[in-house]
Amino acid sequence: MDYRQNLRKKNIIVVKIGTSTLTYPNGRLNFNRISRLAMILSDIRNSGKKVLLVSSGAIAVGTGRLGYNSKPVDLPGKQASAAIGQAILMKIYQKLFDEYNQMIAQVLLTKDVMTDEVRKKNAQNTLHKLLEMDIIPIINENDTVSVDEIQFGDNDTLSAMVSVLIQADLLIMLSDIDGFYTDNPKKNASAKRLPIIETITEDIELAASGKGSDFATGGMITKILAAKMCLKYGVNTIIADGSRPEIIFDILNGDDVGTLFPARERMH
Ligand code: ADP
Repeated sequence: MDYRQNLRKKNIIVVKIGTSTLTYPNGRLNFNRISRLAMILSDIRNSGKKVLLVSSGAIAVGTGRLGYNSKPVDLPGKQASAAIGQAILMKIYQKLFDEYNQMIAQVLLTKDVMTDEVRKKNAQNTLHKLLEMDIIPIINENDTVSVDEIQFGDNDTLSAMVSVLIQADLLIMLSDIDGFYTDNPKKNASAKRLPIIETITEDIELAASGKGSDFATGGMITKILAAKMCLKYGVNTIIADGSRPEIIFDILNGDDVGTLFPARERMH
């Protein structure tokens, strides 16, 4: 089967975007990128597909608004920044998506949504209802009551959970790198991008952790674990370069970009 061409038919799409893609290295928002992302997601929605966005960035935006030069180091400080930043971030998304007449909704989740059956059902119902109404849900971890995202920068896991929860067809994780490599390319110049990974082996997990270095949290390992969860539940996953949001069109066109983890066809 041509895994790439298969992506053209995908209907429910989750896009995850991290802080490093939404902001400049100085922590300020990259409006150019965010406005292109809003246009692209609205356009894909208009084409008849269902779209969800998992967005980080609340702490960075809150920190900027408070006029601090760097993120607070204490947990309550980070949570306060996130609370301030989340509202501002949504205001910006609202304005940008409005340009394209696209309605959005804010959904803040905690990870127990996957283990608590009542919460799971409620979240599923809400998300399905929003999609049915052609709205793009913008999802983040509820930082005020949970600390995982703040501690591990881990919206990768959250995006996988959301994808499984709503039985998405495809999860696109936009990163600061153009795919998964045989080794960390920032440390090993001969590392090569892997276009397709069908099975996540121990070697892949090792390559994600930077081979024995102490980079085992965040970064690629959370993306690989997210892809593993998606594979288990029949969701295709792609890790791709978020610096050019138009790459989402390339992905949905079946082009050879990023790293694809193709899922086996789901039984209906
Ligand atoms: P994001 O902020 O987009 O979620 P991260 O910066 O946390 O992404 O993770 C991406 C980084 O992971 C890359 O820039 C790279 O330095 C590092 N990395 C470690 N191992 C690998 C690998 N095998 N392939 C690609 N990148 C890797």
